[in-house]
Formats: sequence, C-alpha cells, structure tokens
Amino acid sequence: MTVHKILLFYRFVPLADPEAVRLWQRTLCESLGLTGRIILSKDGINGTVGGELKSVKRYITRMKEFAPFHDIDFKFSEGTGDDFPRLSVRVRDELVSFGAPGELVVDESGVVGGGTRLTPKQLNDLVAEKEVTFFDGRNRIEAAIGRFADAVVPDVNTTREFVAELDSGKYDHLKNKPVVTYCTGGIRCEVLSSLMRSRGFGEVYQLEGGIARYGEEFGDGGLWKGSLYVFDQRMSVPFTDSAEVISECSVCGTPSTRIENCSDPSCRELFVVCDEHAAAISCELHTNESTIGGSTTQSSGERTPILAE
Ligand SMILES: [Zn+2]
Ligand SMILES: [Zn+2]
Repeated sequence: MTVHKILLFYRFVPLADPEAVRLWQRTLCESLGLTGRIILSKDGINGTVGGELKSVKRYITRMKEFAPFHDIDFKFSEGTGDDFPRLSVRVRDELVSFGAPGELVVDESGVVGGGTRLTPKQLNDLVAEKEVTFFDGRNRIEAAIGRFADAVVPDVNTTREFVAELDSGKYDHLKNKPVVTYCTGGIRCEVLSSLMRSRGFGEVYQLEGGIARYGEEFGDGGLWKGSLYVFDQRMSVPFTDSAEVISECSVCGTPSTRIENCSDPSCRELFVVCDEHAAAISCELHTNESTIGGSTTQSSGERTPILAE
C-alpha cells in the first residue's frame, strides 16, 4: 500500500532571488509528483505539500542541499493522496499576509526582533511561574472553537487586520506584561510577535511549532481548551476524545465545533453550526429568514477552501 504524507514547513531566511527559487521548487515538486502550496518571498518560504512518502523524503533531501533551507524543521502529517488537487508555487510580498512587508526584518537566523521562543514544556513552566496573557495570533473563527486558557482573542477576520488592531490601543495595558503569542503552526507568531515588540510590547513570547506541536505533546491535558481549526476539509480537529467543546451553533446555541461557510456563495464568512443548521447558516448580510431552520437534507455544498496559514 502506498503511504501518503503531508509536509508542513516554513523558514524565514533572506532569499536573494525568490523567482529562481520558485522555478526550482516547481520543477522539483513536479518531478516528484508533489502537490500543494508553496509561497516564497524575499524573506523565505512557507509550504504545505503532499505526496507519496518516498517522494516527500526525496524532497526533504533536496531541500537540505540548499543552504538557506538546510535546517528547516519539517512537520509530517498523515495524507490521503487526495489532499491537494494541484501544485501552486508563488512569489509574494509576504510569506504571511499581515500587510506590513516593509516592517519585517529577516536574517540568516530568522525574524529579527521577534518574541522569545518557548517549547510546549517551557510554556507550561512559564505559566506555572508567572501570570502570563495568551494572545491568539489567529482569526476570530479559529479562536472560537479552541484557544489557550483565558486567551485574548483579537477582533480580526484576516491576518491583515492585526496591525490596525494592535495600533488601536486596545491592548496597550499588556505592553508591560508577559504576553504569549500562539497560532496553528508557529509562522504567524513569528511576524506577530515582532510587530508587537516594535510597538512597545516589552515581554513577548511565541509558542514554537504552534498549537499543533503543543497538542502533540500535551493533548487536552495542558493549557489548551477545545478543538484546533485546520486548513483542510476537516476544518476542525480535537486532540483527544476528551477535548472540551467550547463553541456553540450560531443559530441555536447547541455545543458544536463544526464550521461552515455562509450559504451565500459570494460570501466567505465562517460560522460555528450544529449538524442540524449546517445547511442553513447565513451571515447578517445574507440572512434570509426562510433559509434559517429550513431544509437540512441537502449539504451546504462546496466549502471555500481556506489555505494553510
Ligand atoms: Zn443549531
Ligand atoms: Zn454571507
């Protein structure tokens, strides 16, 4: 039986010629039959690719031969062979779209002026030792179904809204307190923690490997509560069978971790829904009384794919 794997990775490192790296990555992935998404910028690489185990291993070997990528921390997850319909390799202004490409400073060791890195164990030790505030580095809907205990959840629908949110003064009371940023796999916090530090937040930490790695180590027995939002068809996953359900259907209030798009195909807004209301969900803009509580026999159809962070 063929084993399929998904590889997740990123590396902040200066790339003198991202366009040349793009061409190389495209050829490399095509030759190995890998699909998925790779983003390149002058600041590095962010990728999620899937394929057969032996191809994925070969890809890693070739990546390590390229000096800027030789110490990338690759994370594996199980694949189905059908995870990504195609290959996309693009050069963009930013690896993660904060809308602040001019602010980020990157050198050979990564982001300059970011937060202090914490392993999951170090995070637990820090929390046991002093009062810290968790600061969710993800979007509103991601935090709705799972977050660290008592986390501050910024009011953002996209990563692009973080800069304005930080500049609003809402979180200035945290500037002299220990703040721990976290996100799914760690990449958004690389940027977020540096944006926070340059805005006067004095004691900023970032969870290395993100919630994904924390969950691997501590499951639901640590400081994490709820389910993890993921960027594939599953939308959300619990770490263990004893995961708490902290979110509820936005129509009827039943505890649920299911996420669906607004039923209007032109709208991308995401909502927590129960199974009964999965097909009926509609945002304020698209609310139509007749659809709420209506037919549930038909599925909500195609989900808008949310790409990896
Ligand atoms: Zn409901
Ligand atoms: Zn809508």
